[in-house]
Amino acid sequence: MWEETRQAEERKVESMSSFESFGLNRRVLQAIHDMGFEEPSPIQAACIPVVLEGRDVIGQAQTGTGKTAAFGIPLVERVSTEPRVQAIVLTPTRELAIQVAGEIRKIAKYKRVRSVPIYGGQSIVHQIRALKQGVQIVIGTPGRVLDHIHRGTLSLSDVRMVVLDEADEMLDMGFIDDIEAILRETPSDRQTMLFSATFPNEVKRLALRYMRDPQHITVNRGEVTVPQIDQVCYKVLERNKLDSLCRIVDSEDIQLGIIFCRTKRGVDDLVEALLARGYLADGLHGDLSQAQRDRVMRKFRKNEIELLVATDVAARGLDVDDVTHVINYDVPQDPESYVHRIGRTGRAGKRGLAITLVTPREYKLLKQIEREIKQKITVREVPSLEDVAERQAEMWRSKIVDVIREGGLAPYRAILSGLVDEHDPIDIASALLKLASSGDGNRTESDEYDFGDTGARPGMVRFFVNVGRTSRMSPQDFVRAISEEAGVPGDAVGRIDMFEKFTFIEVEEESAPFVYEALRQSRINGTRVNLEPAKPRSSRR
Ligand code: ADP
Ligand code: MG
Repeated sequence: MWEETRQAEERKVESMSSFESFGLNRRVLQAIHDMGFEEPSPIQAACIPVVLEGRDVIGQAQTGTGKTAAFGIPLVERVSTEPRVQAIVLTPTRELAIQVAGEIRKIAKYKRVRSVPIYGGQSIVHQIRALKQGVQIVIGTPGRVLDHIHRGTLSLSDVRMVVLDEADEMLDMGFIDDIEAILRETPSDRQTMLFSATFPNEVKRLALRYMRDPQHITVNRGEVTVPQIDQVCYKVLERNKLDSLCRIVDSEDIQLGIIFCRTKRGVDDLVEALLARGYLADGLHGDLSQAQRDRVMRKFRKNEIELLVATDVAARGLDVDDVTHVINYDVPQDPESYVHRIGRTGRAGKRGLAITLVTPREYKLLKQIEREIKQKITVREVPSLEDVAERQAEMWRSKIVDVIREGGLAPYRAILSGLVDEHDPIDIASALLKLASSGDGNRTESDEYDFGDTGARPGMVRFFVNVGRTSRMSPQDFVRAISEEAGVPGDAVGRIDMFEKFTFIEVEEESAPFVYEALRQSRINGTRVNLEPAKPRSSRR
């Protein structure tokens, strides 16, 4: 019966909607504005109004489509400032708990709503203290949440909203009992939201048991027509994205390029960084006045800029024919906007190239876009790490020379005077450089990909996979999965050691983050597979 509801209520996403149209509190709107979001992503446009109505919702969309804000915004909007836990979000991993908590905190910036992430591996005492401060929204991993409930340090009796984020992954990780136990601790008239990239039977069953007449919202849509444009992608890490972009730009003969960013903030930051590196760039986004916009467009048409950095919204009204390159600095959130973006080049019968930068976390999203547009996006060699490193070194050298030229160093000299007697000046300078460069950018834990010592040969990372010969999997199956799911060619895969119940696989360091993100929770030939960095031999059980 519920299957029918699902079909009847599957929502087509309205193409035009704005955050203003949701009737949100002014403070929440301001916070969204500060985050640089110009308009709701498709899953947000479809989910937010329904969640605000108080209905149960199943939101199904690929990673990177903005599911966090799809529930985060209505959550912050609907909780009161009373210091009771009114909403709980369950996530499969601590990284995700931290990430979701960070996004919710930004949405709640101007509202007196507190949120706290609770997860295993962090001191429980610290978390108990945080919970005692009176928080309205708790974001946690199932195990740790249950732990707090049992200790009596977290009560869910006032919870009105429950979110199961990445439900498919939580179930794959075996959290079903914990999730059910937690749901039983919440009032039965709660609102339940479930978000998931896929919708396998286990998730369906969970929804059937614990949700009331849920509206199933999916943004995996049908046909899109794609212009014939050469499309390539480069696999990059978040932390050297900018340098990779510069390398790519340098290696292309760009007459006019449009670089797309997801947010207004992203546009501003990237323009500034490009200008600092000597590129002729300018930005376009929804916060600019018409006069500012006209000025940028004039420069663009007169070839005074080579790179125009823009959001989707800003580029929508753009009418230029000579764009030689479209670069997606972020993977767009849906096939339509991908098609829209790349359609900016190759117009009027000219050749164009569409380039997409893709991080390990975004790779699945790009694969999905590729499937839906039914066109091949060729993976190009990652710009060599040495090149990127040399670029960074060059930038530091010139920054240092600039600072020396500027002068005004006397107070700093005073700090160093005592050190010079005991240490080599080059060592001191190097140490300072190390300090300065580690504070560079805003790295998050999740995009570091430090797999530690995995007992692999130099230049390789060794992964442990929880299936072996008994699952009738062959080494070729692994190589194929790695190539298909992570876009990593067979020659980047090293030794594969298969045992009865598990397997070790070595892959080249550069490819490791992509292999990890693509396969850490996955299915190969229908078998559920879990992949994690191996432990070095000495510490292996
Ligand atoms: P998912 O949970 O679907 O994997 P996330 O919620 O993590 O996706 O969002 C992916 C990225 O997109 C995040 O960096 C987020 O800040 C950004 N984002 C989300 N919604 C929007 C929006 N409406 N406009 C621009 N960027 C957005
Ligand atoms: Mg998410």
